[in-house]
Amino acid sequence: MPLLGGIEAGGTKFVCAVGTGPDDFRAETRFPTTTPEETINQAVAFFKEQAQKEPLAAIGIASFGPVDPNPASPTFGYITTTPKPHWAQTDLAGALGRALGVPVGFDTDVNGAALGEYRWGAAQGLDTFIYLTIGTGLGGGGLVNGRLMHGLIHPEMGHVRLPRHPDDPYPGACPFHGDCLEGMAAGPALQGRWGQRAETLPLDHPAWEIEAHYLAYGLVNFICTMSPQRIILGGGVMEQAHLFPLVRRKTQELLNGYVQSPEIIERIDRYIVPPGLGNRAGVLGAIALAGQEIK
Ligand code: ADP
Ligand code: ZN
Repeated sequence: MPLLGGIEAGGTKFVCAVGTGPDDFRAETRFPTTTPEETINQAVAFFKEQAQKEPLAAIGIASFGPVDPNPASPTFGYITTTPKPHWAQTDLAGALGRALGVPVGFDTDVNGAALGEYRWGAAQGLDTFIYLTIGTGLGGGGLVNGRLMHGLIHPEMGHVRLPRHPDDPYPGACPFHGDCLEGMAAGPALQGRWGQRAETLPLDHPAWEIEAHYLAYGLVNFICTMSPQRIILGGGVMEQAHLFPLVRRKTQELLNGYVQSPEIIERIDRYIVPPGLGNRAGVLGAIALAGQEIK
């Protein structure tokens, strides 16, 4: 199996790794996302150093977005309209491909992670499932009928609108929509609503019940539109493992017995789950995207 590189390009940090899968994971580095030039140069330096030991056959990039994932488009491999300063219209895949001289697989962070979970993690054997990340942003991807979800551009599951929690006056953090799902439930929304970082909120804080409200409404919409066989929830905010039972219970309550599947009614613990690949889901997904380039 030829050696592959992967980049999980997040809004807060980049994770770069080389290997061929979870059992052959040879090196990893993490660094903060600063300017495109500085961040891309750091990634290039890591892969050049690794390639001295054994050349890379391809790299994969699973990126925060919005991105252009259409190989037929002139802006394929770009991060497009992101509000993140300096990063709009950045040719991420092109810059890395030119610097490293290898083919580049490119998709959204969540489609990448979904592909990794499908190959090696919590979605093995399924053909329709969703992977959501709740981190700096909130995004969803996955497979439908065995294929990664694309389409017009790619899904933007974080930007659906939901009923507000009755005790929540927070206006929302999305620069485009205010109180969409991302605006109410991604990491920056928790920080904006409570004035402290999500990772510092105690377990008994009312934040978590409100968080579960928004996440469960989002999941109900996705269950009703895509009929996923499983939902994987990753990203920094979901490191709060106590959120899982809250989200599962609220999702069941909102569906109110209408979607007649034992997965939801009897086995919800196995239906709404953390990534099987843990916090390596993103970067292993990027390696899985690289693998698609050499077949
Ligand atoms: P990225 O978006 O760069 O991929 P993360 O998924 O870690 O990175 O998302 C970062 C966001 O998640 C920040 O808003 C941070 O406050 C929040 N976060 C990170 N770790 C935790 C944690 N253990 N508990 C709650 N929130 C967290
Ligand atoms: Zn939005």
